[in-house]
Amino acid sequence: MNPLLSRRHFLKASTLATASLPFAAKSLFAAEPKRQIGFALCGLGSLSTHQIAPALQQTKYCKLAGIITGTPDKAKRWQAQYNIPDRSVYSYDTMAKLADNPDIDVVYVVTPNGLHARDTIAAAKAGKHVLCEKPMEVSPEKCQQMIDACKAAGKQLAIGYRLHFEPNNLECVRLAREKVFGELRYIEAGFGFAIGDPAQWRLKKELSGGGPMMDVGIYALQAMRYISGEEPVSVSAIANTLDTVKFRDIEESLVWQMNFPSGVLASGNTTYRFNGINRYTANAERGWFGLDSAYGYGGIHGRRSDGETIQLPGMDQFAAEMDDFAQCILENRPTRVPGEEGLRDMKIITAIYESARTGKVVALG
Ligand code: NAD
Repeated sequence: MNPLLSRRHFLKASTLATASLPFAAKSLFAAEPKRQIGFALCGLGSLSTHQIAPALQQTKYCKLAGIITGTPDKAKRWQAQYNIPDRSVYSYDTMAKLADNPDIDVVYVVTPNGLHARDTIAAAKAGKHVLCEKPMEVSPEKCQQMIDACKAAGKQLAIGYRLHFEPNNLECVRLAREKVFGELRYIEAGFGFAIGDPAQWRLKKELSGGGPMMDVGIYALQAMRYISGEEPVSVSAIANTLDTVKFRDIEESLVWQMNFPSGVLASGNTTYRFNGINRYTANAERGWFGLDSAYGYGGIHGRRSDGETIQLPGMDQFAAEMDDFAQCILENRPTRVPGEEGLRDMKIITAIYESARTGKVVALG
């Protein structure tokens, strides 16, 4: 079993996630942190603007200390809004100069998927820790290069798997690990949406690495892995594209199946064609449990076959994820979402694409 998916890992994660809840924060962390970890956001697009920068204002152990952007106008707006000095503003080409800036400890990479290795390696070479958005990159080889670069620099690399900090997902992991409904048998999971703008980078394979599987199917894949607590041994998949103009580069929809060493089977689906799929169900010997919706920034809730609901209070997952990474750095302990976790997903997704292409079942090593 992957130690990261063990019961201990998740119970610890669950405790930490609970500790990150706003109502718990004051009493549990009465003492002020000795210092806050400085984050520089690399890529000031939608996620940085609407989720990460506001979340940074809610963190206890982090502060927004710098920005890396290719757009000077954006830099000016962000400097004014967040009081960022000129010396902490960089372009993608000047990241080496981060080495001279003691205010910045972490670079949070929020650029398109196919640029994550470029930006992670530049940050590591400048002596910074890296938190990188999912999916980690577009191939296992690129993921390995990122791991190697951070290791060579003696810096930590974490992947933005925010649901490892989300209480309702952690509750489902508890139900699975404690076998509350008996041995797991079968997991169904899916995540998709109707994508808009045909010109966006998500539809360009070079920058995205693939379609909805890379973008949101990865959440369903993650759920299968953290609910089962196992790594799949083989995968099979079918991709399907109806709009061959808009989706000429990538799959439009995809379904896949996996089997795990214990005999658990999993079936997943993902799409860019329509809205409405955002869920998982875990079926065990004596009942079932699951979330619907499962993967959003808020509103996550679910049900169990015994009639109980699963509805723990929401929290800012990005703030929890960043505070946890900051604490890992301050206390010199490993993150629960390291680069190796992103690499595992990328190996499985590569096998899923291979199966969709060849029509064959692909074994995983
Ligand atoms: P976005 O398109 O809104 O932002 C991307 C940013 O990268 C923009 O500021 C853009 O200017 C910049 N960029 C730099 N070089 C570029 C290039 N060559 N082409 C296009 N843009 C370039 O995208 P986003 O939604 O913010 O996603 C960024 C990353 O965050 C992706 O890896 C995505 O998968 C991830 N993401 C994660 C979550 C989550 O819930 N964890 C949610 C959304 C996005």
